[in-house]
Amino acid sequence: MAIQEKIKTTETQVAEKYVEKVLEKIKQRSPHEPEFHQAAEEALHSLVPVLAKKTEYMEHGILERLVEPERVISFQVPWTDDHGKVQVNRGFRVQFNSAIGPYKGGIRFHPSVNSSIVKFLGFEQIFKNSLTGQPIGGGKGGSDFDPKGKSDQEIMRFVQSFMTELSKHIGPDIDVPAGDIGVGPREIGYMFGQYKKLRGAYEAGVLTGKGPGYGGSLARTEATGYGTVYFVEEMLKTKALSFARKTVVVSGSGNVSIFAMEKAIQLGAKVVACSDSDGYIYDENGLNLETVKRLKIDRNERIKQYMDEHPNAYYFDNCHNIWSIPCDIALPCATQNELDAKAAAVLVSNGVAAVGEGANMPSTLDAIEVFRNNDVLFAPAKAANAGGVAVSALEMAQNSARLSWSFEEVDARLYEIMVNIHENSVKAAEDFGHPGNLVIGANIAGFIRVADAMVMQGV
Ligand code: NDP
Repeated sequence: MAIQEKIKTTETQVAEKYVEKVLEKIKQRSPHEPEFHQAAEEALHSLVPVLAKKTEYMEHGILERLVEPERVISFQVPWTDDHGKVQVNRGFRVQFNSAIGPYKGGIRFHPSVNSSIVKFLGFEQIFKNSLTGQPIGGGKGGSDFDPKGKSDQEIMRFVQSFMTELSKHIGPDIDVPAGDIGVGPREIGYMFGQYKKLRGAYEAGVLTGKGPGYGGSLARTEATGYGTVYFVEEMLKTKALSFARKTVVVSGSGNVSIFAMEKAIQLGAKVVACSDSDGYIYDENGLNLETVKRLKIDRNERIKQYMDEHPNAYYFDNCHNIWSIPCDIALPCATQNELDAKAAAVLVSNGVAAVGEGANMPSTLDAIEVFRNNDVLFAPAKAANAGGVAVSALEMAQNSARLSWSFEEVDARLYEIMVNIHENSVKAAEDFGHPGNLVIGANIAGFIRVADAMVMQGV
């Protein structure tokens, strides 16, 4: 073995040991946080090539600092239901990393929310926000509150109580939350109203995802779904493919899914299936998106109701089986770990060409392995769904300048950002010896910007 190669191997071994040590420490410190372990494992292993080359990151303890949130806030959220009964939920905000800007990340309301979920989301947010090229750090928050079946008044009382505590920890230059699962324009509106009352000031930049009439950015609602499709289209181009005339399956029927479907259809694809947590609908001739929008956005109904208007479509009770439908492009846009190795193998055997993650960590580590081993183009969440937070950063910029840009202007900037993220991820993968691997490329490209800022700022 040539001396150069020997040195390289030794450096890689040192980097691998360093990563294992950090991962071991995470498990010791936070033994009951499987989703956080999974996110850290996926990211840290792919950083080995960069740690082997830039050994100063180890000397500065960058990984140890990156995996430990700068601050974790956990709080009680008491509220009164419509029967006058007191209910208590748990609220979280994890302020993970502020090396390149104020903490930025959504708020999730879902019964599954716990410290592990919030930490995995906040950790991924560091890389994602960095990839956008915008000045935003990583954070995330939420509550185990279940908005399903609650009245509008109950939602408002809960949100006001949640914000009463959260307001002590956020601000336009400190931490800027947004929506996520279970948190849409209505919840953001109530949060902003309560924050304004408590502060006695109109600080528009404290939250993003606001209504366009009071400081929100046009195209924010569409941004995550559109951005995912823009990213996947770039990825497809590398194999001389495109969305045109392709069959697409999209899981979920919430904010991300609906606008991913819209953009895919605009680019000439046929979307044949989507879902909610109860089940999925399938129409081989293509779904009617207007019906899905009416049901899910206007009327907050179940996806099953689609059948009332389209009796020739099919409804299946188990949402996980959506991946058994043959398609060229699969866009998981619902939730974490919704696509496992078994589902990935079925997609592969049905000839899937590309998978783009609209949701956060929707594919298990094993599923990603199946895609890689079978040469399926794979767009990881941190890169593919970064359009939402990118436009949130554009909303902050508009708020600071007291301006609002047109839909077309924001959409054009979003497109440019997604093309850049793709380019930077491709380049980082090549530079560090893993051409074509966007998981590694996105992690490295996102990491370097944050790590360099941390080195420069000292401990
Ligand atoms: P929404 O609440 O608008 O929609 C979520 C959708 O996923 C709903 O259709 C929901 O169905 C479905 N779903 C939830 N849990 C499950 C489950 N266990 N199995 C199957 N389906 C499920 O959320 P968003 O669209 O905003 O978010 C979706 C994903 O995208 C999340 O992972 C989120 O973190 C991520 N994301 C969102 C961004 C945004 O801008 N909104 C930005 C970046 C990432 P049901 O109605 O039955 O609950």
